[in-house]
Amino acid sequence: MTSPSPSSPVTQPYDADYAVVGLGAMGSHAFWRLAARGADVLGFEQFRPGHNQGSTHGSTRLFRTLCLEHPGLVPVARRSLALWRELEEQTGLPIVRITGGLMIGRPGSEIINGVREAAEVHGVEVRTLTAAEIRKEFPQHAGIDDEDVAILDPEAGVGRPENAVLAATRAAEAAGGRLVERVAVSGIELVDGGVIIRTAARDFTVRQVIVTAGPWMYQLLPSLPYQPIRTPLTWFTPAVDAAEFDLGRFPTFIRELPDGNRMWGHGSDTDHAVKIGPEDDPHYTLVNPDEVDRSISPADYTLVSELVSRYLPGLQPEPTSAAPCMITRSPDMQFILGRPHGDPRLLVGGGDSGHAFKHASGLGEALAQMAVGEPTYTDFTFTDPDRFL
Ligand SMILES: Cc1cc2nc3c(=O)[nH]c(=O)nc-3n(C[C@H](O)[C@H](O)[C@H](O)COP(=O)(O)OP(=O)(O)OC[C@H]3O[C@@H](n4cnc5c(N)ncnc54)[C@H](O)[C@@H]3O)c2cc1C
Repeated sequence: MTSPSPSSPVTQPYDADYAVVGLGAMGSHAFWRLAARGADVLGFEQFRPGHNQGSTHGSTRLFRTLCLEHPGLVPVARRSLALWRELEEQTGLPIVRITGGLMIGRPGSEIINGVREAAEVHGVEVRTLTAAEIRKEFPQHAGIDDEDVAILDPEAGVGRPENAVLAATRAAEAAGGRLVERVAVSGIELVDGGVIIRTAARDFTVRQVIVTAGPWMYQLLPSLPYQPIRTPLTWFTPAVDAAEFDLGRFPTFIRELPDGNRMWGHGSDTDHAVKIGPEDDPHYTLVNPDEVDRSISPADYTLVSELVSRYLPGLQPEPTSAAPCMITRSPDMQFILGRPHGDPRLLVGGGDSGHAFKHASGLGEALAQMAVGEPTYTDFTFTDPDRFL
């Protein structure tokens, strides 16, 4: 738990200038971007980087650039893509494949308005498909209403989360970052002149800490509204024509449904499985990540199976595989990233709200810039933790 205790100053030499606590999507990239700047940085991870116990596993994530969640995210996705291209070259691990993406909904819906606003603010020319064009070009999507339209995001595709975390961690170590893996941080104490990081074996002292603990954020930072939610991943198999659901033919999509819920997914890439999920499911619950149910039951896919049989009838409605996962919601579904109360000892990056993987390297870059006192490459006031303090 983070606690300020100015009465117990740092009395020993610092173990490092910076520590990153939690090397998942955001933390591994903050670790890399700090190390790449020549910073003296320790990276703490309770498991091994690339594990499947948090939010960043399951082979793929949707990558989108025209982010309906906030137009300010467009430069973050673009910076992420540029950094990942650098990392792919450096490590040989594939991270992002661009195929384009479809955002489907009624004109005036949140999804269509959000994508259109992001495109307008950033001067991106987009193609808008009519209902007839969607039916003709993407016949996999059934039940398209005459009023529906789709915006094609040319810079969308899929990302590979485990590869990204592994590549960032390797690059951080190659640049001199020190990995402390399989070590859980049990407490973070803000003291005069720095930070004490508590672990079972020993304490570490640093000048500044960056906490990127994903679903575990609330345990280390209870004053911020991070809410871990169990949200399983589900994969489906084509009923007849597998080629119809190849990623090249059935790209990344988000579709607004008549009841206001959304369905998202993408065709099969190298793993021959089609990933589909609902945005919301009454089955999604607040959890303690240390005790989360890691088994799968039919209740985990009842809703998504119904959606698949209704809107993607070319797929078998029962998932061929499923895996538990978690997101961390914030009250406004936007990231909580920055410096709480302007404290020079503490930076936080969390509250992914189910849409942060595509921004992970761009968010890691911003956290590194904030840590060393550089101006950030784009405005991050919309993620400021102080909006909740
Ligand atoms: C079903 C599902 C679908 C999704 N789809 C998309 C998508 O299509 N596109 C997209 O962009 N995003 C998507 N997301 C969201 C994306 O996966 C998350 O935003 C992202 O993975 C969050 O990363 P994180 O760094 O915040 O958390 P994590 O990756 O979980 O990282 C936190 C790390 O901190 C470590 N840690 C925690 N506490 C401690 C401690 N005390 N000591 C040491 N280490 C600690 C953990 O072990 C973990 O490695 C999806 C998420 C889910 C669950």
